[in-house]
Amino acid sequence: MTDRKVYYFDNNATTRIAPEVFEAMRPFLTELWGNPSSAYGFGAQVHGHVEKARQQVAALLNADAKEIIFTSCGTESNNAAIHSALMTNPKKRHVITTAVEHSANMNFGEYLRRQGYDVTFLPVEPDGTLDIHLLEKAIRPDTAIVSVMYANNETGVVFPIEEIAAICRSKEVLFHTDAVQAPGKIKLDVRNLGCDFLSLSAHKLHAPKGIGCLYVKRRTKFQPYIVGGHQERGKRGGTENVANIVAFGRAAELAVQKLDEENTRVRALRDRLENSILSKIPNTIRNGSKDQRLPNTTNIAFEFVEAEAILLLLDGIGICASSGSACTTGSLDPSHVLTAMGLSPMRARGCVRFSLGIYNTDDDVDYLLKQLPGIIKKLRDISPLNPEHPDNDKYDIDAARIKHEQDLAEALKDEKAA
Ligand SMILES: *Cc1c(COP(=O)(O)O)cnc(C)c1O
Repeated sequence: MTDRKVYYFDNNATTRIAPEVFEAMRPFLTELWGNPSSAYGFGAQVHGHVEKARQQVAALLNADAKEIIFTSCGTESNNAAIHSALMTNPKKRHVITTAVEHSANMNFGEYLRRQGYDVTFLPVEPDGTLDIHLLEKAIRPDTAIVSVMYANNETGVVFPIEEIAAICRSKEVLFHTDAVQAPGKIKLDVRNLGCDFLSLSAHKLHAPKGIGCLYVKRRTKFQPYIVGGHQERGKRGGTENVANIVAFGRAAELAVQKLDEENTRVRALRDRLENSILSKIPNTIRNGSKDQRLPNTTNIAFEFVEAEAILLLLDGIGICASSGSACTTGSLDPSHVLTAMGLSPMRARGCVRFSLGIYNTDDDVDYLLKQLPGIIKKLRDISPLNPEHPDNDKYDIDAARIKHEQDLAEALKDEKAA
């Protein structure tokens, strides 16, 4: 396992730490270990590095450094934004989000419902995009905040954040966007976007796990989510995760530099991979809008096979990909994103996401394209759902499909009950 090359096609789940990022953070794990809030020089010198990182992250967003709050992750940033909107507008108890958000928002929304809040999960179109007229109509006088992700982690579909922000502004409702999948892939500019809150997570841009940030537009009322010390100008308690903050800062700089490469070389790799799969492997379909999409992501439905089986065989030959998000792996539920787009649970369970990054090469794509058709054929040859199965005439394919759907529904029910 250790000395084998990993062919990594799961960059939307997490990314490799860039060597430059690791070098930048290293001193803060060795000699420069002081507390940035300490008054003596040994600690205080660290403070300057935290503030430099804040400026680097702010520059990625065209924000002011004072508008950046470091958090522990993207999940915390999302939770903190929605929490603050509700706490600072106690009479407004309605939240709007979408049915395709990351589990960070989906499950926080469910949690709020249990607390007595009203949460609208907006449906999406079959290509994963949002009808913004629906969003506009959903806004009520008691809506505290609208939260719509910038780009979907499973399909790569990009949402019209600027337009949504304008609608929210005209209705005087706060707007948050989970932009965790955007940096390094889309140019970010909070001044143009006009959002009140924006979340990032460093491990999606070649920095370590366990560090994120929340942009809070100046003059926006803010109620801390983690209450404690006076760190982060009183907006987030807890001693600063200095090494990770410094790493995030360096990674933010690199993300700006790599934006062009991601949109040319990585996009071309993704397109070559996607076009080859769709043309060489029969009964494959791309999920999600082709054009309103991140340059690195492709999500493909392979009919008559289970994604979990494909991933297992890929894993056996060193290829990492995923079905749905890493946060739902291990669950029997089909992806909530794909089912919200109208895929049947069965088709949704045959979908694989390949997400590329700046460390992918032509060789990686060649290797995957060499292996994948054989894997799909092998699985289809043994799949009773396959109309070309050698024993096909012994099967009623429609009956087999219906039975399969029923079995799945049963299994899901059992899982929910357990
Ligand atoms: C990964 C991800 C998150 C969660 O970020 P963490 O730092 O892992 O908590 C949130 N939203 C999206 C869209 C993501 O892809």
